Amino acid sequence: MKHYLSHLLPVSILALVVFVVACGDVPDTERKQINIMSQADEARMGISEFAKMKQQLRVSRNPSYNAMVQQVGRRLAAVMPVPHAQWEFVVFEDPSPNAFALPGGKVGVHTGLFQISQNEAGLAAVIGHEVAHVVARHSGERMTRGILSTGAVAVGTYILNKKADVDPRVAAGVLGGAAALGYKAHSREQELEADKLGSLYMARAGYNPEESIRLWQRFSAYRQRMGQTQGFSFLSTHPVDSKRIAELQKYMPRAKQEYRP
Ligand SMILES: [Zn+2]
Repeated sequence: MKHYLSHLLPVSILALVVFVVACGDVPDTERKQINIMSQADEARMGISEFAKMKQQLRVSRNPSYNAMVQQVGRRLAAVMPVPHAQWEFVVFEDPSPNAFALPGGKVGVHTGLFQISQNEAGLAAVIGHEVAHVVARHSGERMTRGILSTGAVAVGTYILNKKADVDPRVAAGVLGGAAALGYKAHSREQELEADKLGSLYMARAGYNPEESIRLWQRFSAYRQRMGQTQGFSFLSTHPVDSKRIAELQKYMPRAKQEYRP
């Protein structure tokens, strides 16, 4: 709780009221957080943004990619605690190695991800990580912190009014508490939390959580091959360094407790 105190001190009674009504726990962590939006609102926005994305972006019909995503998605959906979920897993034609999750149980995977994920467990690690951002409500939390610390409630209204002009993925990310597709980086603390939760989910779904470490190593190797010119790829918001992999290694005993092959 003390973590948020510095944000709360300078703000108004309104913020304190919000704090009282919206303080909650992040499932599977010891952490408390504050969020202004309700999870039902977040889910509604995620679901409607995803519907737009399916119309505006190119959906892949590749049978093997789709079969793998449906299989992994079905197993993960059974164990991931997303409120108001209407689960849907869609492959989009996009060569950048990326994936994203929106509130309401909507998940997109780029065709470019498969070169890195390579197998079902690797794919489960990425999807688990992205959905963990949603479960832990990282984007909403970041937005809430911003609003509480600056009092800039107008920002939300501005984005809402402007939404039609914005890439739907950005709007979904900002508004829906989404992983924001690499347009906006999460904090390091949020990334580590998503890594850990993602490894728990994959373990509960029957995938060896050790594969999450190999996945990040493959991302790291890919980055070394490609250099820094990746634009809006997963890597631009997911720096892979030895600290990240070491933290996940440390968490492995916990994740493996829940691994049922
Ligand atoms: Zn992330």
